[in-house]
Amino acid sequence: MFENLSERLSGVFDRLTKQGALSEDDVKTALREVRVALLEADVSLPVAREFIKKVQDQATGQAVTKSITPGQQVVKIVHDALVDTLTGDVDPGELKIDNPPAPILMVGLQGSGKTTTTAKLAKRLKERENKRVLMASLDVNRPAAMEQLEILGRQIGVDTLPIVKGEDPVAIAKRAKTQAALGGYDVYMLDTAGRLHIDQELIQQAADVRDVANPRETLLVVDGLTGQDAVNVATEFDDKIGVSGVVLTRMDGDGRGGAALSMRAVTGKPIRFVGLGEKMDAIETFEPDRIAGRILGMGDIVSLVEKAQETIEAEQAEKMMKRFQKGQFNMNDLKMQLEQMQKMGGMEGMMGMMPGMGKMAKQVQDAGFDDKIIVRQIALIQSMTKKERANPKLLQASRKKRIAKGSGQEVSDLNKLLKMHRQMGDMMKKMGKMGKGGMLKQAMK
Ligand code: GDP
Repeated sequence: MFENLSERLSGVFDRLTKQGALSEDDVKTALREVRVALLEADVSLPVAREFIKKVQDQATGQAVTKSITPGQQVVKIVHDALVDTLTGDVDPGELKIDNPPAPILMVGLQGSGKTTTTAKLAKRLKERENKRVLMASLDVNRPAAMEQLEILGRQIGVDTLPIVKGEDPVAIAKRAKTQAALGGYDVYMLDTAGRLHIDQELIQQAADVRDVANPRETLLVVDGLTGQDAVNVATEFDDKIGVSGVVLTRMDGDGRGGAALSMRAVTGKPIRFVGLGEKMDAIETFEPDRIAGRILGMGDIVSLVEKAQETIEAEQAEKMMKRFQKGQFNMNDLKMQLEQMQKMGGMEGMMGMMPGMGKMAKQVQDAGFDDKIIVRQIALIQSMTKKERANPKLLQASRKKRIAKGSGQEVSDLNKLLKMHRQMGDMMKKMGKMGKGGMLKQAMK
């Protein structure tokens, strides 16, 4: 899967890994080639452009982590951006099937793998979630399709709605609903008719069925090998019928990975499952991390960079702790703490993560602390000179006035900040003395 893209990117990064330092030009050159690779992998132009911009922004100004090469660092950044783009806001494998019998509507073009996917999902629900599933084919134009579902049902031990000749799709959907309720089924799946191309009749039929069934999930099945076409199909279906997720089939083939990326970026719809073969077990929950790793084909590098970053962070924390133990807590440290707090969801978020920090939270708040002013406090520190940050005792009245003015605040705000700094410094010192396994070590994690 995704071989083309991986290979192309490998070429780009091989060249980068041979260089010592990562200049802005290097990033640009590399990303230009990533862009070409994405386009060749059938990612649409706007998506590729947007993606590159995102990576460029993230890469620029980012320090290269010690002990890894700049090329490896770029791989990690590209990987993270891929994951970010591919990640939706729902848990892909979590189908909404509370309130039995829950209807699931399956839509898609003929040959996309819709009937196969219906059966695969039914089997999954039965085996993994112990659900009773009823499947019904609404493909009245193709008796063979109805029989196919029946055969698959027998094969996996899932019931299908008996076929009644001459019934229209809406009538079948209603009968499935009644049967599912009477028969005590948890889920009923409606396998709608497919066509070779989207046409008015197909859409109308799916819409009519949707209106009577009121599905909890409408899953669009698309052939992952069809690249940009798959994206167009998805856009159309979503506009006309509304889909809650996409299943990409034939991802076992040597397809172009671009479809997954474009699909997500263009339609905004979450990819829920990927089909990986003809067998009834050949379906998996969509995992952005895994797909990104496959697109890049460089999973090892990604975990290497993650480890290196963790090590560096641990080293920095250790160094900082040693300084705090000696009572060296300067304005840069305070700034770092404040930024950390912002990242962790403010004061409450941060204190919530640390055992035994309730008391400190109160003290800091008593010292005039409030989440909203973190930004302003950081601004004050930024207005100080390097020397002043290292040793705030240098601050004279005139400088204080200037700093306060420079960041649009009062001298009293600055004084509060300085007081907080002193108090935190004292606390850090005390906590540092509690030794290696002490609270500070916990707090730094
Ligand atoms: P439908 O017309 O959309 O209902 O498509 P079918 O479910 O009948 O599938 C068409 C063909 O594609 C069948 O031969 C399936 O076995 C095959 N197929 C479906 N999903 C996959 C998949 O994920 N990988 C591969 N390799 N084949 C698949």
